[in-house]
Amino acid sequence: MKPMGSIPADYRGENGELIIGGERVSKIIEAAGDTPLFVYDLSIIEARIDRLRAAMPAGLLIHYAMKANPFPPLLGVMAARVDGIDVASQGEMRLALDAGAAPSVISFAGPGKRDREIEAALAQGVTLNCESASEVDRALDIGGRIGIAPRLAIRINPDFELRGSGMRMGGRATAFGVDVAEVPDLALHIIAEGAEWRGFHIFSGSQALDPDALVEAQAATLALSARLSTEIGMAPPLVNLGGGFGIPYFPGEVPLDVERIGIALAQAFETHAHLLGDTEFAIELGRWLVGEAGVYLTRIIDRKRSHGETFLVTDGGLHHQLAASGNFGTVVRRNYPVAVANRFGAEAEEAVTVVGCLCTPLDRLGDQVGLPQASPDDVIAVFMAGAYGATASPSAFLGHGPAQEVLLGG
Ligand SMILES: *Cc1c(COP(=O)(O)O)cnc(C)c1O
Repeated sequence: MKPMGSIPADYRGENGELIIGGERVSKIIEAAGDTPLFVYDLSIIEARIDRLRAAMPAGLLIHYAMKANPFPPLLGVMAARVDGIDVASQGEMRLALDAGAAPSVISFAGPGKRDREIEAALAQGVTLNCESASEVDRALDIGGRIGIAPRLAIRINPDFELRGSGMRMGGRATAFGVDVAEVPDLALHIIAEGAEWRGFHIFSGSQALDPDALVEAQAATLALSARLSTEIGMAPPLVNLGGGFGIPYFPGEVPLDVERIGIALAQAFETHAHLLGDTEFAIELGRWLVGEAGVYLTRIIDRKRSHGETFLVTDGGLHHQLAASGNFGTVVRRNYPVAVANRFGAEAEEAVTVVGCLCTPLDRLGDQVGLPQASPDDVIAVFMAGAYGATASPSAFLGHGPAQEVLLGG
């Protein structure tokens, strides 16, 4: 038997059946008509937002990085409850606007923005988080042509990185952001050209579980912002501090102490109040807000033995839940938490390997995990499926098609 991650404490069973969003899994599947299925529990997302607001300094803006989960009903909820939506393409921008987000709270990051994307963003009044000096110039040209003063923030490639981050984004040669040394001149250029300078966007990494690493990165971000504002001679209207808040996917990982981060951030604001007292601050989170609120449900089609191992073959797989298969930015494959949804809470009775229906040995959802006895027609629940699940998986691969998605609860 190999270890697996812990099921988030938000979930419970009733008469041996997993409940999601207040409903029994069998009912949810009946209503949807088929498996596989992503189920998102709104009450968990609301609890995360409430906890974060209580933990963070008053006035800190909370943005949702929608690439984590752009499912329209979920996005509609986020647009109503957070202070901004961060998008990374014109397609995402359109979804955010359709979900009811005001253009003034949308910011558009990402390298390789096309002219038509820049034009659409400017025409809507969306802020561009510019990734290079040449992108700033293209935005200024397009703004001049269509008669709109662009709203431009500078994404900075910071001269530090987020320790222990699952995906390091700063402190090195990168396609993301403008090197620190070039930032003051670029900000002055934006201001001189009559555009609306919106400040800085500094994203230093993702999936960190060490609160001290996040505290350090936020303090470094504030110090960098203060130093640059002195060089520019003007404080940034807004600093987007990035995010990087992780969730515990794997054995031995523990949930992030966000309260501790909030206390340290309030102190860092105090430290820099003389230079940044009028600056607004935001954090942008994807996975921490929605990751634990999603469960991927897949039905067992076949049970077989091979060379002494038991395999449960399901109707799902890595085409929906690539990250759980260990093929989305991980070096060593480890087990996400999984359970038999219709025997929830039962003791583990055997070690089984849960695989998907794709014709590749990469398609493993659980490797020799301890589960209660399960057979065809039973339902496997893969937890931690609310972020980078449906949206970050190759659903066209092998032609099985995408999974359904539903939002429940709240
Ligand atoms: C992906 C991304 C995020 C969200 O990261 P999470 O790990 O999901 O919180 C935030 N900001 C930027 C710029 C990103 O690219």
